[in-house]
Amino acid sequence: PTPLDVDAIRAQFPILCKPLPNGKTLTYLDSGATAQKPTVVLDAMRDCFETYYSNVHRGKSTLGRLVTKAVEASREDCRRFLNAADVSEILFTAGTTAGLNLVAQTWGRANICEGDVIATTVLEHHANLVPWQMLAKETGAELRFLPLTDDGRVDMDRVDEALTDRCKLLAITACSNVLGTLPDVKALCDAARAVGAVSVVDAAQFVPHRRTDVRAWGCDFLVFGAHKLYGPTGVGVLYGKRELLDAMPPWQGGGNMISRVFADRSEWAEPPAKFEAGTPPIGEIVGLGAAVRWVEDLGWEALEAHDRELAAYLLERLEEVPGLTVYGPAANERAALASFTVDGAAAEDLNFLLDKRGIAVRHGHHCTMPLHDLLGVPATTRASLGVYNRAADVDELIEALLAARIRLRLA
Ligand code: PMP
Repeated sequence: PTPLDVDAIRAQFPILCKPLPNGKTLTYLDSGATAQKPTVVLDAMRDCFETYYSNVHRGKSTLGRLVTKAVEASREDCRRFLNAADVSEILFTAGTTAGLNLVAQTWGRANICEGDVIATTVLEHHANLVPWQMLAKETGAELRFLPLTDDGRVDMDRVDEALTDRCKLLAITACSNVLGTLPDVKALCDAARAVGAVSVVDAAQFVPHRRTDVRAWGCDFLVFGAHKLYGPTGVGVLYGKRELLDAMPPWQGGGNMISRVFADRSEWAEPPAKFEAGTPPIGEIVGLGAAVRWVEDLGWEALEAHDRELAAYLLERLEEVPGLTVYGPAANERAALASFTVDGAAAEDLNFLLDKRGIAVRHGHHCTMPLHDLLGVPATTRASLGVYNRAADVDELIEALLAARIRLRLA
């Protein structure tokens, strides 16, 4: 494929093209927390608010028609992006966390019983763990963890330890936000289906790094949020197979999710409206559609190649820092992100010193406390890369880490 023109991409991100408030140039290595936004996304949202903004799915006014068309066009963009069979399988949510809670509270409460097993992994973000803990506590179900290999991959030889015939649900990340691990989602969804379990895929970190295909994976549910995909906060997608959505009770009650309300009872609208109570984040949905189209226009082959190259270069260069430990699998088994510790340096101090040079990384447990317990460290420093990053950003990071070791009197 023609490689990504990273300079041309960077020129589309206003925040990367001007000095920070402290005068430094931004080296942004925190896209795993949230990605920066290109002008097309900002413009699409501004255009919505400035030229055709009104409430959606309400009446037949000129503005109402325009805004409804734009929101439904975003839904189609998301359907195509995920390769879902039908637009009614694309539900707009407030984000990844909201999508996972929706599945837990609706499908989960209706289907999980005492003694059932919910299978997941220690790799999960709290958003794909705590809702299942809450569901397990409420229903008397048991949480089981798929064994991992020493380098943080799912041990495919031992999946049957959690995927037993008592298992009703598998909740799995498609990309660890800490280790960058890319589990074999298709094989895991197949294994779940073989024991009669429904699969839920957390694709929050996966969607900016690799092409997603819900039909190739055969997953039952999949969630992602717009803001790590160069789109706005406050909006995300829950994909659900239509037959599951039809059988599931709604979550929140209110406007838009009904077909008929009587004083004492209601009848539900068809999906997706059934799960979209209230006024949605209209401008943000428009921004999500713009983000999806923008990523698709870059081309997946080029984007994935760029991501693989960055992952390899990041891991190769991190090896040059004495006392540095990278957690997780080899570069060719991960997305372009790495979490690490440096002997003798607190993650917080490293963060402070990198930040002073304009380098944005994240430190802490990254909402994965059980994983950090397994790694045996309370906190790591994470560099997570996106389409706008170059080898030069990795060079900056390495230089800053070497300088930090001197400042902290480790060298
Ligand atoms: N899952 C993963 C793997 C994540 O990285 C994140 C965000 N850090 C989430 C879920 C939660 O996303 P949000 O906070 O946007 O709802």
